[in-house]
Amino acid sequence: MASRRDFFKRLATPVTNTIREENLKVRPPYAKSEDLFLKECISCESKDCATICYEKIIFIDEDGLPFLDFSKSGCTFCDDCAKACKREVLSLDIEKEQINAKFTISFESCMAHNSTICFSCKEPCIEDAILFNGLFNPVIDNVKCTGCGFCLSRCPTDAISYKPTVVGS
Ligand code: SF4
Ligand code: SF4
Ligand code: SF4
Repeated sequence: MASRRDFFKRLATPVTNTIREENLKVRPPYAKSEDLFLKECISCESKDCATICYEKIIFIDEDGLPFLDFSKSGCTFCDDCAKACKREVLSLDIEKEQINAKFTISFESCMAHNSTICFSCKEPCIEDAILFNGLFNPVIDNVKCTGCGFCLSRCPTDAISYKPTVVGS
């Protein structure tokens, strides 16, 4: 886990160097860029985004930056965090409702990839981004997937996982 000293070291380096895969975290939606989180959030005392999120999926890391945790719920794109952010790190100018996370289903762990019928992830996906081949073998369509995270906690075998991508990519 990165220390506060590592964080300041990152701040001192050019932005292009800070956006490395190992530094990425899943951020709240409506984010303009990763470097704005690094620049603004550390000195934001209110952390209004985390306070206002009624799904309680926004947490603050040890560097003072907000990140999302989908272990209990997901994002409804309610706009509240963007409206609450006074520093315009989150902004409703962003047109696409998209979270910087790429979701995948493990073929080894997923019951429907192992001859057992299960639609637990399909029902909460309002984007219809989980594609089944008949009754089996679901895969996530990453073009349709908004990264809302609601499927993750519904899977009885923890077969769904996600990795952060670059904000706005
Ligand atoms: S309210 Fe805005 S500036 Fe403050 S922590 Fe949240 S995103 Fe960052
Ligand atoms: S859009 Fe709403 S549900 Fe999603 S992270 Fe922001 S406040 Fe939470
Ligand atoms: S597949 Fe994507 S859009 Fe569908 S519930 Fe999961 S994270 Fe949300």
